[in-house]
Amino acid sequence: MEFIDLGRQLERIRADVSARMEKVLNHGQFIMGPEVAELERQLAEFVGVKHCVTCGNGTDALQMALMAAGVGPGDAVFTTTFTFIATAEVITLLGATPVFVDIDERTFNIDPAQLQLAVEKTRAEGRLRPKAVIPVDLFGLPADYTVLEEFCRREGLFLLEDAAQSLGSSLHGRMAGSFGDCGSTSFFPAKPLGCYGDGGALFTNDDQLASKLRSIRIHGKGTDKYDNVRLGVNSRLDTLQAAVLLAKLAIFRDEIRARQEVASGYSKRLAQAFKVPYVPEGAVSAWAQYSIVVDNRADLQASLKAAGIPTNVYYPKPLHQQTAYQSLGYQSGSFPVSERIAETILSLPMHPYLEQSQIELVAEACLQSKTATPRV
Ligand SMILES: *Cc1c(COP(=O)(O)O)cnc(C)c1O
Repeated sequence: MEFIDLGRQLERIRADVSARMEKVLNHGQFIMGPEVAELERQLAEFVGVKHCVTCGNGTDALQMALMAAGVGPGDAVFTTTFTFIATAEVITLLGATPVFVDIDERTFNIDPAQLQLAVEKTRAEGRLRPKAVIPVDLFGLPADYTVLEEFCRREGLFLLEDAAQSLGSSLHGRMAGSFGDCGSTSFFPAKPLGCYGDGGALFTNDDQLASKLRSIRIHGKGTDKYDNVRLGVNSRLDTLQAAVLLAKLAIFRDEIRARQEVASGYSKRLAQAFKVPYVPEGAVSAWAQYSIVVDNRADLQASLKAAGIPTNVYYPKPLHQQTAYQSLGYQSGSFPVSERIAETILSLPMHPYLEQSQIELVAEACLQSKTATPRV
């Protein structure tokens, strides 16, 4: 069994992908070809925003958004400590300071109450200027934007949604990528919408922000290619990857539906003995990961491995405990929820092509392991 089975998906779309790639080989516009423009049009429509700006990867997308927002030295950017390093790395690379915030123990997403405390504390200290917030839609579940959007508007903070794991999910009918001032995503192959290499995109309703992002994407170009109006990066989505994504986007809604079936199949069987994922009222997850919380994680992982079932731990170490962030001076115990979840979280095989029999096999293996404990 595969943790994420891209081969099954390829079987379904191979003819379409090949035809679209062949078309690119024939027209030869490998940089910013017509497929890129068409993908941006379709993605903007899918997410329900005015503008989509594609780029080289999800990390660049985050960095470009912060550059467009003018984030730099002296600025505090608030984000969750329970995420992939990329979310915070870009803050530091721009000379700003990440201020970590603990998570809600049910959703694993940034806790808005803790965020408010962190912003108040930073303002009171007066050393850093609160500038932006980057909530992450972890494992495909949108963060609590009902509260976060209102909070950021009131506090004058730039809200950047890290939707790298959540494209295709929604909250009260609004699609992931559309929240806050700007949303960013990744097309890394293992993400819900992945290409066959690196890729990323940004989403916004703000005309000015979109045009800044388009400029930053190509070295800060102005209307004249050789009159650069600001400093930018070189981060374009390859035309070939756009062609792949057009083929994948055509079946994406169907795949998101299939992911709901897999997740509910797991939860139905596992809820009796494990803490299964919580999906708040009004939310639909993209199920980038299906993650349970288990006290004896190593035992469960070992018995699943013996049964030929791969698992992964996202993430074994919150960012404030990573070696690269020791200089920020956080102590162990600073973010108790994230630290506890990092020790007990376990992700099971998850993709739209898991068969009923495989779901049953995984669930049975979990229930048979000695880590299963009846829940009341
Ligand atoms: C994958 C990921 C990124 C980075 O995306 P890349 O395309 O790999 O650069 C950023 N944030 C989160 C939460 C991710 O999962």
